[in-house]
Amino acid sequence: MSKIATLDEFFERERKVVEYSEDSEFTSEKNKRFYWTGHPFVDAGLTAILLIANKEKPEELTEEDIKKAIEFVSNVYTKKEWASKYLHGMIFPNNGIIMANPSMSKKRTPEGIANNLLKLYYSIPNVLDKSNPESRCVICGRRKPAHNKYNLFMSVFPLLGTGGVPNFFHSANSKGVDICAHCLFLVQFMPIATCNLPRVLVIHAYPYQKMLELCEEAVRDVKLRELASNARGFKKPENFLFRKIAEITQKIVGGYKQWENVSITLYYFICNNQNQSIDVIPIPNPVLRFIAFAESVDPKGWRNILNIGWQINKNNKKRKKLSFEELERKYTNEVYMKLLNYESILPYFYDKRKRNVNASWRLLEFYCVEVLGLNKETLEFIKNVGDKIVETIEELPNNQLRRTVRELENANKLWEFENFFVRVEKIRQDKKLQNALLTFDEFARLLTAYGEDINVSWKTVRDLLLFRIYEKLHDRLGGIGKESEEGEEFEHWRGEEE
Ligand SMILES: [Zn+2]
Repeated sequence: MSKIATLDEFFERERKVVEYSEDSEFTSEKNKRFYWTGHPFVDAGLTAILLIANKEKPEELTEEDIKKAIEFVSNVYTKKEWASKYLHGMIFPNNGIIMANPSMSKKRTPEGIANNLLKLYYSIPNVLDKSNPESRCVICGRRKPAHNKYNLFMSVFPLLGTGGVPNFFHSANSKGVDICAHCLFLVQFMPIATCNLPRVLVIHAYPYQKMLELCEEAVRDVKLRELASNARGFKKPENFLFRKIAEITQKIVGGYKQWENVSITLYYFICNNQNQSIDVIPIPNPVLRFIAFAESVDPKGWRNILNIGWQINKNNKKRKKLSFEELERKYTNEVYMKLLNYESILPYFYDKRKRNVNASWRLLEFYCVEVLGLNKETLEFIKNVGDKIVETIEELPNNQLRRTVRELENANKLWEFENFFVRVEKIRQDKKLQNALLTFDEFARLLTAYGEDINVSWKTVRDLLLFRIYEKLHDRLGGIGKESEEGEEFEHWRGEEE
């Protein structure tokens, strides 16, 4: 009969099993191992370390890699442009760990910073047992907070409070927020993966492979120039992101498909002694896929659409001299804003004044189905109705054709929209065209089913019909009535959509 183990012996054995099975290769560094947390700033720090080490997964990092990364940032952070302007002025005011505090400017050396970072690295405690009731890091939930050695205020972790307002913290701890040394260590590397545009941009993405891909340029810039990346001079975070999406997409055929199930959020912030603020910009996945699709399937049409949206006066002399690339770097685009705010950009697909379309039906279709959530079959139905309208009104002489189309353009009330169909039906009868424009069921579906539904209101149907008419009849409509419509501004009618 074997001896029954005491409780202590039992736990000891259990502990050994866990230790052995976790990861034999890294046993010596096991307790220091890094992992993704889902927190944008901490993940950005890990991204920076991985990119410096040319690795893809946290579990591939060795102690050697960590030491190299420490050496790399210590050299960079010693530079004045980093220490006082970027680190102290925009991210970590008065940070003592990386010696960004202006009072340390005289004794700031790469060795000094490296020492502090190494100390922090070696202070990373063991991962707590699941059953351990001790308080845990609010970010990763796996280790003890680092209060014993550090004050966890905004000087070492951006956008936290200061020591002056301890009640601000959930921890109710006068030493700051419950953050562990693992997360605190990683966040010291975060600036390397950010861009300065003029605030600080962190691109957080999941799966993490995409985060590495999107932050690679920032880290490369630091490696090359030892300056924080200025994102090629872009001033608007979303413009920069969408340019990068386009570039990554165009690397492979059918590249737009890679954005399926990818989640991206932009964090655009500033944290210094005068000002702490952040804009969180989630990128809806359908919008991400739509932009990737537009860039690879109809780049010309997409540029036409974007060119309407730049927020700079069209008559501005300066604007006329600016290329697309220059506009993109500096100005907000209304089309992007609407997409990010879940507002329709349908009216941008055609130019009502020139009676022309700006993009292909294929792009419009993708937008309607994937972003607006329109049923594919519904879209096909509307397209067929549009074709039947075209077949009917193209029988008319120019002046009547123009008048009829204008009736649809000016339909801002449901009854006006209905009148348009009655009118087209009459034309069909006059011209003795076979079959009615719509069956009763179709008429009911078109005018009542879509009613005031936010996504597929009758206004959406009207816009789609106009698109189809302009696409088919532009040559006859273009130029018609230009005299009578002079002064009618695009902005004017677009305003009615709201
Ligand atoms: Zn943590």
